Amino acid sequence: MDWKTHLIEDRRNLHQIPELGHEEHETQAYLRDALSQGGLDAHTVAKTGLMVEIPGRAPGARVAVRAEMDGLPLGEDTELAFRSRHPGRMHACGHDGHMAMALAVARRFQANPPQKGSVRFLFQPAEEQHPGGALDMIADGCLDGVDRIIGLHLQSPMPTGQAVLHAGAMMANSDRFRIVIHGRGGHASEPEATQDAVLIGSQLVAQLQTIVSRRVPATDPAVVTCGAFHAGSAANIIADTAEILGTVRTLSAQVQSQIAEEIQHMASTVAALYGAQAEVSYTPGYPAVINNAEVANLWASSLDGAIQLVDHPPIMGGEDFSHYLNRIPGAFLLLGARPQQYFPHHSPHFTIDEDALPIGVELLYRGVLALL
Ligand SMILES: [Zn+2]
Ligand SMILES: [Zn+2]
Repeated sequence: MDWKTHLIEDRRNLHQIPELGHEEHETQAYLRDALSQGGLDAHTVAKTGLMVEIPGRAPGARVAVRAEMDGLPLGEDTELAFRSRHPGRMHACGHDGHMAMALAVARRFQANPPQKGSVRFLFQPAEEQHPGGALDMIADGCLDGVDRIIGLHLQSPMPTGQAVLHAGAMMANSDRFRIVIHGRGGHASEPEATQDAVLIGSQLVAQLQTIVSRRVPATDPAVVTCGAFHAGSAANIIADTAEILGTVRTLSAQVQSQIAEEIQHMASTVAALYGAQAEVSYTPGYPAVINNAEVANLWASSLDGAIQLVDHPPIMGGEDFSHYLNRIPGAFLLLGARPQQYFPHHSPHFTIDEDALPIGVELLYRGVLALL
């Protein structure tokens, strides 16, 4: 079987057995088996993850390649012959493709080891589940002795043949917040005796939208979204509590902490204006994915002719690859994989253009060689 056929076959096999984070047992067994058929002995890390290393012909730098293993709690709604065989589980983010590409790169290096240094492959569980499997991988020593790390993510909205690789911010800090307004409920006809949580919460939602428009510099991208508002039970009752759930996306740590403080300040101030109280909890999610400039530039300069690098603003989604980047120099690339009819990631109709897979193998392979 030629390598491209093998690559597509791996991807389709993995696509059929999606598992949730920390439950990737069948996936782990598939990868272990595929690696051992290629003469590679993988060992278990982070319970359901794998790590495998290919030494070069002489000592040198060690470069790691990371691929995520988990699927999503979603029933697949596609007509693909190789669709999910696990009810309520789906590879709807492209991680099946990431694993297949990493396997293909590993096979290529196994057949033809690098002149110097070594390549380490990290198959990581639970990217989709905060706090993320990357931390478990790191705790198990996956970065020990690693000089640089690279990874990529397929992007269904981006045309195949294009990629984004910045010498800086790629993806956002993605945090969550919850605000509970504690007012005083009562009869709808006597508002003067109450502290109306619906009114206070509504004022606060509008006020929170001024953080990005009036408090954060226009040059710093940021998003504050109130995604849920729960309050009240009937037309003739003034609600005593209101709950607001939201998310914050930022690219810098400074703006991130500024927004967290603004939310706290506005919530307590708006509530106090009406004699009520606000309880705020702010939960940091994955840190922003910020590429190391030197690694990104080295990798980018090795890609001539293999891909069209496009200038695309950072994506405000989150990724736990940032945990690796916060420890060692590395870079994350976004790879276009748009099928004829495309659906967003995490949709039950999600598919990828498989033509992107051999491109991704080439990009990872060149990246490792450039960094060794
Ligand atoms: Zn995802
Ligand atoms: Zn993903």
